[in-house]
Amino acid sequence: MLRNGLYIIATPIGNLQDISARALDILRETDIVAAEDTRMAKKLFSLLGLPLNKKFIKYEDHSEEKQSQVLIDLIDAGSAVALVSDAGSPLISDPGYKLVRKCREQGVYVTAIPGACAVITALQLSGLPTNRFMFAGFIPNKDKARADLFDELKNIDTTLIFYETAPRLLKTLEQADTVFGTREIAVARELTKMYEEVITGSFAEVITRFTTDEPRGEFVLMIAPPTVTEHKLEDVRDILKARLRETSLKTAVKEICEQYSFSKNDVYALALELKDE
Ligand code: SAM
Repeated sequence: MLRNGLYIIATPIGNLQDISARALDILRETDIVAAEDTRMAKKLFSLLGLPLNKKFIKYEDHSEEKQSQVLIDLIDAGSAVALVSDAGSPLISDPGYKLVRKCREQGVYVTAIPGACAVITALQLSGLPTNRFMFAGFIPNKDKARADLFDELKNIDTTLIFYETAPRLLKTLEQADTVFGTREIAVARELTKMYEEVITGSFAEVITRFTTDEPRGEFVLMIAPPTVTEHKLEDVRDILKARLRETSLKTAVKEICEQYSFSKNDVYALALELKDE
């Protein structure tokens, strides 16, 4: 019999066989299933051949105060509560962290049953550095918020990872191109599914691909750290030229040096040459 507590359970992100044996055991035994979308949770239970004779409770972060306490009271009364997402690992761009926090505050037993997670699967397949990475969740929809986020992240020396939706992918790539310039990128789509694919290359190459071939399915966007791409000074010629039209020579040189690992003298010399063109 399961001890009372909160069980955070990863479910597949596409391929149903990616559910773990431990997750199946717990989902079979648990009394209560907490999910953002209880219909999706029931569908998953049916697909996995699991019994539906349990209580399915809706859990969303934005109404967490009330809902978390309802779940914790049920745990205190002896229940085992399984928290699942529509797909993948709960709490990763999905609800749950406030519930876990509250469980910790109240000394409630919490455990996690690890499994599929799109960010990790995408990173493993990307060919980009895995020693340090930053997952930045979903990219904001509004142009200004998106630009601010990219600006905030542009000097971070790690692989950057984002979730993105198909209809927004191209616009995001075009905007990211203006900030991350010559870095390598990888776009993973439909992971663990029939049409799983990882497209790598420059922004220009990936944008061309998705201009010809309309983006479909679920996506993870990854951008290489600035130090991975071996930039040649020539690569930033156009970027520097454009900046010189908009700002002072000093600022343009400073910006390029911050973004790429060139010597200040080299960038300064190129800036002087471009200024006279
Ligand atoms: N908690 C989930 C996880 O563990 O990855 C993520 C949930 S988030 C609401 C959904 C986003 O994850 C999608 O919009 C997509 O960006 C990404 N995603 C989920 N499944 C995916 C898949 N099979 N292939 C590529 N990206 C996926």
